[in-house]
Amino acid sequence: MGRMAEKKQFVVIGLGRFGGSVCKELVKQGHEVLAIDTDEQKVNDYARFATHAVIANSTDEAALNSLGIRNFENVVVAIGDNIQASILTTLVLKEMGVKNVLVKAKNDYHHKVLEKIGADHIVHPENDMGRRVAQHLSDDKIIDFIELSEEYSIVELFATSKLAGKSLIDLNIRARFGVTILAVKKGEVINISPEPTYQITEEDLLIVIGHNQDIKRFEEQGM
Ligand code: ATP
Ligand code: ATP
Ligand code: CA
Repeated sequence: MGRMAEKKQFVVIGLGRFGGSVCKELVKQGHEVLAIDTDEQKVNDYARFATHAVIANSTDEAALNSLGIRNFENVVVAIGDNIQASILTTLVLKEMGVKNVLVKAKNDYHHKVLEKIGADHIVHPENDMGRRVAQHLSDDKIIDFIELSEEYSIVELFATSKLAGKSLIDLNIRARFGVTILAVKKGEVINISPEPTYQITEEDLLIVIGHNQDIKRFEEQGM
């Protein structure tokens, strides 16, 4: 979705598949990334993606100090299998006063401990991706979606022939379904907050915000 204009500095510890793709995407978004791994091969592989890539053991407080980690506000701990190293690293980072520590958790036990020692964000990418994939598979109308909370989402839906040629006023979507069309994409062209008189065509990709139940109702009855 929207991209931050402000350039930030991040540290990514652990260059497995998860940490590696976090690192690449942050750089792509225009941020600076210090990438750390104990594995020399991984560090060499990421030297061309990261702003800096260094070999270090993140459980070693002195090593983190010499890298100036305490000056960073955002650190991602992406150590997958070594739960002990992940916990110890998180503990050291929070003791150093790093403001925002995001940690990849392997299981519920790991999650609980991370919560206790002050991790600011804990993610379960495998579980989350599994849920996303399942939701995509079970709903062929939804092209993409963002969960805003448990109850609210933003989804992308292709307009059907049922909607084609009708205006937002004709369809009375907000009043009938409680959902709002935030924007309409036609190929590469995006129309933000369309006029109520806007006429939908069949190639339109509708970006819709609303309560999940209302979105479902709109999909089933409105399109
Ligand atoms: P993913 O599931 O995201 O692919 P993975 O299964 O590769 O992750 P691991 O191999 O356990 O996960 O860890 C990711 C990376 O973290 C590895 O490249 C590993 O070398 C690195 N790593 C492990 N312990 C440390 C540590 N103490 N300090 C720095 N890096 C570490
Ligand atoms: P509202 O108070 O809901 O904005 P309104 O009486 O001011 O309605 P319009 O804004 O002209 O009337 O829109 C008429 C109807 O068209 C709305 O009630 C709504 O159902 C639908 N509508 C207009 N714009 C959108 C939109 N972006 N997304 C979904 N429905 C819309
Ligand atoms: Ca793994």
